[in-house]
Amino acid sequence: MSRILTFVLTAALAAACASTPPERQAIEDAAAALGGADRIAALTSLQVEGSGPAPNAGQNRLPEDELPVWQVSEHTRTIDLANNRTRVRQLREAKFMFAGATVQRVTQGLDGEVAYNAAPDGSLSRAGDAAARDRRMEMLHHPITIVRAALDPAARLANPRVEGNDQLVDVTTASGDTVTLAIDQTTHLPSKVTSMAANANMGDVAIVTTFSDYEDVNGVKLPRRLTTMMDKYLQFDLQVAKNSVNGDVSDLAVPDSVKSAPAPAPPPVVVTVEPVAKGIWWLAGSGNHRSIVFEFADHLVLFEAPVNEARTKAVIDKARTLSSKPLTKAIVSHHHFDHSGGLRVAVAEGLTIVTHRANEAFFKELLARRHTIVPDALEKNPRPATFEFVDDQMTLKDAVMEVQLYHLLDNPREGTNLYAYIPRERMLVQADLYDASWQQHLWGENVLANLAQRKLRIDRDVPVHGVIEPFDQMVKTIKAKPTIAGTN
Ligand SMILES: [Zn+2]
Ligand SMILES: [Zn+2]
Repeated sequence: MSRILTFVLTAALAAACASTPPERQAIEDAAAALGGADRIAALTSLQVEGSGPAPNAGQNRLPEDELPVWQVSEHTRTIDLANNRTRVRQLREAKFMFAGATVQRVTQGLDGEVAYNAAPDGSLSRAGDAAARDRRMEMLHHPITIVRAALDPAARLANPRVEGNDQLVDVTTASGDTVTLAIDQTTHLPSKVTSMAANANMGDVAIVTTFSDYEDVNGVKLPRRLTTMMDKYLQFDLQVAKNSVNGDVSDLAVPDSVKSAPAPAPPPVVVTVEPVAKGIWWLAGSGNHRSIVFEFADHLVLFEAPVNEARTKAVIDKARTLSSKPLTKAIVSHHHFDHSGGLRVAVAEGLTIVTHRANEAFFKELLARRHTIVPDALEKNPRPATFEFVDDQMTLKDAVMEVQLYHLLDNPREGTNLYAYIPRERMLVQADLYDASWQQHLWGENVLANLAQRKLRIDRDVPVHGVIEPFDQMVKTIKAKPTIAGTN
């Protein structure tokens, strides 16, 4: 090779390198490592089959305990790359004490912008826009889909940076979704994808899927392990049994009847009021999380700030219509996410939080978190929280009302649970000790033992979940121990 030609080639190479921005170069290197941009572009579909644990965040016995786990025994994720469709089918089994069906078959899909769910009988129904967004993001949590999306000329690549052994690039897809792709600087294979999401309890969370154990399938590199975390919580650790490409995916198209149905809006929040005794109201309505209001001599106290900001704000507003006395306290029965989803709005509304002491660190952390993606009341108007912590028991009492709070002891599922007893009414007020509609009452005997140990004489159960019942009926149902009914 002549010296001049060498010079020209070197100069051309230098120019080419100089003209390729590092974020573009990283994507091109990743595409090459995965089997080549042309091969990736020519793929029509992916299918990932496997199994693994899917823990349930916010449902552990104590806030720092291990999470209860759904074991996913069959997981099949199919992606129609050519038509922008995806479907996940799985069979999961509860490996924890669960009051509902312990074996569940779940099918969820997305066809373009249309999300849908399949019932056990196979019938499809349209799912809401939030599900569509989640599934569109989830589709990007795979090396092939994210690199294909990044190679799209309509995608924007930005903010190249290095973190550990990874090159990071922010990718905004043609449809406007932004994720961060991490590429291993040694192998040039994608190592993880991060997207930000809004969680009702935790606010801004990073959803991170790590890819490892790559194998070669028809000339394309595919991971045999995909591990998804939501911040510090494991969501799904998928061990792949079989990766396949370019299979028949014609059945991923959703029927026109589903496509033309309107996306269901979230159901409206309805709060009904049922007086259950003098100065005690049961606030029910939409959903299956009720709250109870107690009227003291000069103030009101709420039992339970559940689900999310919308539910709890509506409950607080309703409670304030029941009396001219100020609402000053919210008893948060326990830390499970569906029971503490209104914690932040209760603080934003100036209520003192009464809860078990074991929730202190966890609740303070939840209150300190940022909610910038979907700003909530506390994000918009931060204010310090006031707490009253209960250890074994506490009595709220004045001339007109007495509410005794007790810690549920030695329960295998509920480690921070406080229930209330109103001696004048012989009334039990409780969350998750019992719901008449549960398929099984696995911790019911412990509940009855607790109530006996506290020597409570109960006539009536006024629950957070389910219906108001005579206590005799509650005992009968727990002792009947109905057989477990799984659905599939
Ligand atoms: Zn619970
Ligand atoms: Zn519950």
